[in-house]
Amino acid sequence: YFDVSAPWLNRVLEGQPKQILKAVDGIDFEIKAGETFSLVGESGCGKSTVAKLIVGLHGPSSGSIEFEGRDIAGLSRTEMAPIRRRLQMIFQDPYASLNPRWKVRDIIAEPIKAFGLASSEDAVSDRVGELLTQVGLSPVDGEKYPHEFSGGQRQRISIARALASEPDFLVCDEPTSALDVSVQAQILNLMRDLQKELGLTYLFISHNLAVVCHVSDRVGVMYLGRLAEVAPSETLFSRPRHPYTRMLLDTIPDLEMSGRERMPVGGEVPNPITPPPGCAFHPRCPFANDRCKTERPEPRATGDGALVACHGVEEGRVPDDPIMGKVP
Ligand code: SF4
Ligand code: MG
Repeated sequence: YFDVSAPWLNRVLEGQPKQILKAVDGIDFEIKAGETFSLVGESGCGKSTVAKLIVGLHGPSSGSIEFEGRDIAGLSRTEMAPIRRRLQMIFQDPYASLNPRWKVRDIIAEPIKAFGLASSEDAVSDRVGELLTQVGLSPVDGEKYPHEFSGGQRQRISIARALASEPDFLVCDEPTSALDVSVQAQILNLMRDLQKELGLTYLFISHNLAVVCHVSDRVGVMYLGRLAEVAPSETLFSRPRHPYTRMLLDTIPDLEMSGRERMPVGGEVPNPITPPPGCAFHPRCPFANDRCKTERPEPRATGDGALVACHGVEEGRVPDDPIMGKVP
């Protein structure tokens, strides 16, 4: 359905002017229709860049991004327009992404009009009311401005706006991390219900493995622009293979460890501009050896649906250490 193919050598300008960041390099994953795939990693790992590449906010310098088998990476704006309608993005901070001077109804009506999805003003209003209801708000809320809503309600408005273009695929960059825990759960439940109702496919981008475990079918763990591990979420949580995945899991305070020792989180995240050679994780990895310092590990299938890029796992140096615990 959706395939982001290696090898990428992206030189993506991000943030600092003139500073060239090789943000994602050799990422290869596919997302199946109707599933929720999550990309997880610490900030600076390149996960937001992957999201922007997918929705066309950045172009990759090499490699391909396929949507339903068609490479969309090199498409012009005009060629991309019908695909853009079907690929929408939800951002972390709903307030920053909603125009404060527009009434909510105009915010939601904009994509409906831009994509010509309603034949009259009345039809636009009806559709806006329907979308507000669908996200748990009321049609009269359309008359208010974004600042009149709570953070969770604003995220509902962002979701309604994303749904207005009748998309198939939503890229959600930290959709709940600005919200209180109880509100996070409400928004995730809403998104799950909408997925069932509308047959949506999701890509979640998050730094929080504990949050994505509840909502994902599969999870990709990213480290400094590369995928360390990709696995079905139950496998990732019950039997993490990559040392970095274990380190991330061990930061979840409520995770039941079943007697297993937590792996201490060592060291700082290196500068992504100059990632360490070999396995980029080697300066922080308790299992690193000389091979890890020079040779970059490629993803390998484990035989139970996971892909792991680690010499230590391949050689059996990293002990298989199932958690067998309960996810909080
Ligand atoms: Fe650790 Fe080596 Fe595996 Fe990298 S390749 S995670 S350094 S054991
Ligand atoms: Mg980010």
